[in-house]
Amino acid sequence: MLKPEPKYKFRVSTLSHVEFCVKRGKIESFNKLPPIRVIDGKGAIIIGNRLHFEYSYAYRDFDRVLVRNRLGLDKGESMEKQLDDILIRGRLDDLNIIRYKDKKFTSLVEVKTTNKKYLWRRELNTAIRQLELYLWLYRDRLEKIGFPLWKRHYVEIYSQRNGKLIKRVIVYYNERIEEWIRLVVKIFQGLHPMTVSPFSYCRLCPKQVKERCSWYELRKEEGQ
Ligand code: SF4
Repeated sequence: MLKPEPKYKFRVSTLSHVEFCVKRGKIESFNKLPPIRVIDGKGAIIIGNRLHFEYSYAYRDFDRVLVRNRLGLDKGESMEKQLDDILIRGRLDDLNIIRYKDKKFTSLVEVKTTNKKYLWRRELNTAIRQLELYLWLYRDRLEKIGFPLWKRHYVEIYSQRNGKLIKRVIVYYNERIEEWIRLVVKIFQGLHPMTVSPFSYCRLCPKQVKERCSWYELRKEEGQ
């Protein structure tokens, strides 16, 4: 069946910010913002990948290099997938190969770095959602090249101060991820209510987003 022309195009990295704050996810998805220096920015990804390299023995695995190559990760290629009239695009951080009963599987890794002692709850939820979206995005391709998804995948959080792994969170494939994507689009369209994130998160929100956020202005005035 022919797919409808996509009406909405989202990047995984911005769409997942809905978990940080719905308003932030919407602003970043629909505005071309100047580069945002945040913990999960490009520079941080490079630091994170380097740290992952140092901590992961599996980095030297031949199959891992092969799969990264087949997915175009080292050439900076993105993966895209369409759901209804929604097109989602993104590029995974990293992966590991798992061998089990003579078969090979792929475990995906989302790398985050922070200069804090830990990520706040909604920051962590954002990273988990991001990985869930990558699992959905890459699943078919990985099956096609003979390295299907493993059961467990990981969000790894490293310290920017000393390069140490602060936390590793296990993430499973979310069978309801398409429901979540459709719900978010409804929220963006104004067909479903938004739930505001606590004002404390506004402090962590990038300046470029705050400048475009009507809620922020109101909340500041009300001293929330
Ligand atoms: S400034 Fe606050 S309300 Fe506005 S997008 Fe950021 S976190 Fe959300």
